[in-house]
Amino acid sequence: MGGGWRHFVPKSIEKSKRKDDRDLLKEFVGKGYTVVRSKSDLLNIKIDNGTKIFGIFSESHMPYFLDLDDESYEGKIPSLSEMTKVAISVLMNNPKGFFLMVEGGRIDHACHANDPVGVVSDMIDFDNAVKLGIDLSKEDPDTLILVGGDHETGGMAMGMGGMRGDNGYTMNPEYIKNAKRSAEFVGYTALSGKAKKAKDLLVEWSGISDLTDEETNQIDMAIGYAKDQKGMESPNPYLLPWYGVVFADIISKRARVGWTSYAHTGQPVIMSAGGLGSEKFAGYYDNTDIAKKLAALWGVTLKTW
Ligand SMILES: [Zn+2]
Repeated sequence: MGGGWRHFVPKSIEKSKRKDDRDLLKEFVGKGYTVVRSKSDLLNIKIDNGTKIFGIFSESHMPYFLDLDDESYEGKIPSLSEMTKVAISVLMNNPKGFFLMVEGGRIDHACHANDPVGVVSDMIDFDNAVKLGIDLSKEDPDTLILVGGDHETGGMAMGMGGMRGDNGYTMNPEYIKNAKRSAEFVGYTALSGKAKKAKDLLVEWSGISDLTDEETNQIDMAIGYAKDQKGMESPNPYLLPWYGVVFADIISKRARVGWTSYAHTGQPVIMSAGGLGSEKFAGYYDNTDIAKKLAALWGVTLKTW
């Protein structure tokens, strides 16, 4: 389940990204899968012993969790935790047990965008998904839950002391909490004909009504770039529009969240484990050891290549 519809339909279909004529959605149906295309289809599906689901909800990436209540998505696109819930209901029918991988795939994208709002938005959805696993492990103590990251992105740091003449040791998470949309959503919407009202939208979506002169200048600059057809030529190589870059920067600085990169970093990442076998995942180890530890718990030998 997820996004990326354009990679599954034949090249003859408009917006397809395929280079051949294969219709993978049809092929999944041929293999006994129920292909679901919307949140309501997913939540209303009748699950029995043989149910297999292939869910595809978005042409490209899934939207950020925080943006899902926008009228353009409402009711159409499920959250990560909604997908996880259905996945667990399907897999629970297997008497041999199951392996489920759930990726909060857009947390990384928000970090590429240096957008603390997107990060927290999708961490909350991810956290909701983990909770479903923990609930399951209470019913079935043979469950192992692993929560990890494949890498850090953006060099995100919380509590930028000494910035903006402020020497406190605090951060201001309320600026993240008060924001209503991800920087990506703000950026693209501002470019899409609503640009005239871009400043009003920013105030509404950021929850910041007392913009400083510096922030106002940043916004005016982004509006100017958009008017000159340069709205996408921001310094962020991950294609965040200028307006989104400005939104992310204003919230980051106010919340006192710092960034060192637009890309992946070499920071060690945390691996959390709970349940059966979780003690094997303590300590400091290479990411390739995770597969080996899992294989050992299952009692299988991995092929080397
Ligand atoms: Zn990435």
